[in-house]
Amino acid sequence: MTIVTNLGFPRMGAKRELKQALEAFWQGDVPASALEETARELRHRHWELQRKAGAHVVPCNDFSFYDHVLDTAYLVDAIPDRYRHLADAEPIAGYFALARGTQGAGIDLHALEMTKWFDTNYHYIVPELHADQTFRLRTNKPVDEFLEAKSLGFDARPVLLGPVSFLLLSKTVDGSDRLLLLDRLLPVYVEILARLKEAGAEWVQIDEPCLVLDQDGDDYAAYRKAYAAFASADRPRILLATYFGGLDDNLALVNELPVDGLHVDLVRAPSQIDAVLDALPADRVISIGVVDGRNIWRTDLDQALAVTRKVLERVGKDRLWVAPSCSLLHVPVDASLEKTLSSDIHSWLSFARQKIEELRTVVDVSKGLVTACAALDVARAAVSARRASAKVHRPEVSARLAALAQKDTHRQSAYKVRRDGQQTRFALPFYPTTTIGSFPQTKEVREARSRLKSGSWSVTEYDDFIARETEQCVRFQEEIGLDVLVHGEFERNDMVEYFGEQLDGFVFTKHGWVQSYGSRCVKPPIIYGDVQRPAPMTVRWSAYAQSLTERPMKGMLTGPVTVLQWSFVRDDQPRSTTCRQLALALRDEVLDLEAAGIGIIQIDEPALREGLPLRRKDWANYLAWAVESFRITAAGVADDTQIHTHMCYSEFNDIIEAVAAMDADVISIETSRSRMELLDAFVRFQYPNEIGPGVYDIHSPRVPDIAEMVTLLEKASEVLRPEQLWVNPDCGLKTRGWDETRQALKALVESARILRERVAVAA
Ligand code: GLN
Ligand code: ZN
Repeated sequence: MTIVTNLGFPRMGAKRELKQALEAFWQGDVPASALEETARELRHRHWELQRKAGAHVVPCNDFSFYDHVLDTAYLVDAIPDRYRHLADAEPIAGYFALARGTQGAGIDLHALEMTKWFDTNYHYIVPELHADQTFRLRTNKPVDEFLEAKSLGFDARPVLLGPVSFLLLSKTVDGSDRLLLLDRLLPVYVEILARLKEAGAEWVQIDEPCLVLDQDGDDYAAYRKAYAAFASADRPRILLATYFGGLDDNLALVNELPVDGLHVDLVRAPSQIDAVLDALPADRVISIGVVDGRNIWRTDLDQALAVTRKVLERVGKDRLWVAPSCSLLHVPVDASLEKTLSSDIHSWLSFARQKIEELRTVVDVSKGLVTACAALDVARAAVSARRASAKVHRPEVSARLAALAQKDTHRQSAYKVRRDGQQTRFALPFYPTTTIGSFPQTKEVREARSRLKSGSWSVTEYDDFIARETEQCVRFQEEIGLDVLVHGEFERNDMVEYFGEQLDGFVFTKHGWVQSYGSRCVKPPIIYGDVQRPAPMTVRWSAYAQSLTERPMKGMLTGPVTVLQWSFVRDDQPRSTTCRQLALALRDEVLDLEAAGIGIIQIDEPALREGLPLRRKDWANYLAWAVESFRITAAGVADDTQIHTHMCYSEFNDIIEAVAAMDADVISIETSRSRMELLDAFVRFQYPNEIGPGVYDIHSPRVPDIAEMVTLLEKASEVLRPEQLWVNPDCGLKTRGWDETRQALKALVESARILRERVAVAA
């Protein structure tokens, strides 16, 4: 029978109840039992919500206290030895030590590394393995949560991260091949499967999202081996779940695997349906992801219905399930909680709960259970209203985009010429010093913002406060002798929100939280319409800061790619179009800053790299429009205006050409933690413009000493010319305290002075 199923549900709770419970537990305010109670309540509430919304089968074991990859590592006992003692003595403390590190009597454990989950803004804990790794079943979580759901009367399908994706997402500390561990890992999976069967699970969902990536022969062999081992095991039926893209060249392999069902993402990759159906083995269930699990827009139900009917016709009702494209982990819980949005925009949204309702409508209508249905009418009206809305489509924005010309993406002169003009204008020494923009966001700064929000401070009171903070920050920078100053970004809550709030085409929700990592949630802005800048956004504070000093003041903007990447974006036009609109709006800001006398302008693009598509073949296209968008933002200024950009990562090797093509006069990047990677990139590729490899790791409260920074700069000098090098921290200082910041920046200025002296002596 055609049914609605779901691949995973957000864990945090609509009001972020899990976050509060976790943080209370971490602080020692509540016992583990209270945290577990909240977790149980949330699971129950979420199953109930999904069933009420129309799901026939709900997922279980999709819940996690921190992260599902960490849960999998814990489940199979892939715990590095240094945590083992704690994990054995106190399992929950051991679990959180892996996630967040822990310090105490005689214990000092770092957290495991964290990285992005595919191309989402969710971060997972990277399991740490080694060649002698052994596995065993350490917990019974999947079975326990299945039994919990069952005892509450839910038809639940346990979710497991598949063994091959688990290994591919892990790293080995000794450089050994992760996939060689498969033989040892599989028996543990076989055991879990047997236990699930025994507990009464009819189906299990095994996620292998790596099947939408470029996979090689070794990966193929691993999938073959794993699923062959499961085929002969005593187990529930297996739904192999793939998402975040199409199977493409991996489809033939997937068809070979002896599984009972296959889930495919038809939102990211709608065109794969024909190939998937053509090759679908005759007895296999197909689960079609027809509602977008990655975005917040109401589904075009007619489109979803058309696909569903087509599949229904081909495979028959007994082999078809309907589902979201991927787990709903990446969307907020319930759009009906939003009470402050305008009614039209509100009607265009669909969060986790609404998505399941949409799926139920699709299934009921496609089965002919209902012919005319109110939900369908409402959906159709909303979708067509959005298509036609004058709030969404602003002719002046499309006209401006259409008029973009070659010259709009090019500075007037080449870097070499610009450099001369900038030298004359700013007369900076060798190894100029600067910071990345933000200074400590202290308790007072955050309080000031909430006072303004709650109305207990007037705008004037708030502005006076920001002015004082800014002035102190400028004075401090002058005092210690930094060369290029910043205003400190005290007026900014968040580097995307601050701009989104001032641009047309954005809305903000009250409860639109999605998990970023652990208890951390973000509330991404929603870009619903054509983007325009009604008025200058940053000129006031930058100009004010410049008025306080003779030294050059650097203006600060968040770049178009980063704004795009950290928002929920429109699905009715290509991402590249939205990005170019953002670029044009930000270009206006750049020009206004320039006109206000700001001669150095930094356009931050920390998210450029994370926007890379999952498949290599799609990289060039993305990089082309991403780089072009940056250039649209930057290129309008005069030769002697200096454009900076900033990125906070060091993996440059594979995108260095694109970074150079952005043609910023100066780029600052993260390197203090991983200088070797920087060296690699610049040995192979001669970076043409100026560059500030971060010498102070702002992610750590440690204050670096002068010698350490000098050593880093010496390292950088091996591959970069002295006249290319800037001296700066790795990233903004907003998470640091003033004490560390003062000490570290003084040392930083001193390290630059030492290097300058050496150059002078050598000359
Ligand atoms: N200018 C921003 C800051 O200093 C940059 C932040 C970032 O790179 N993430 O905070
Ligand atoms: Zn940064």
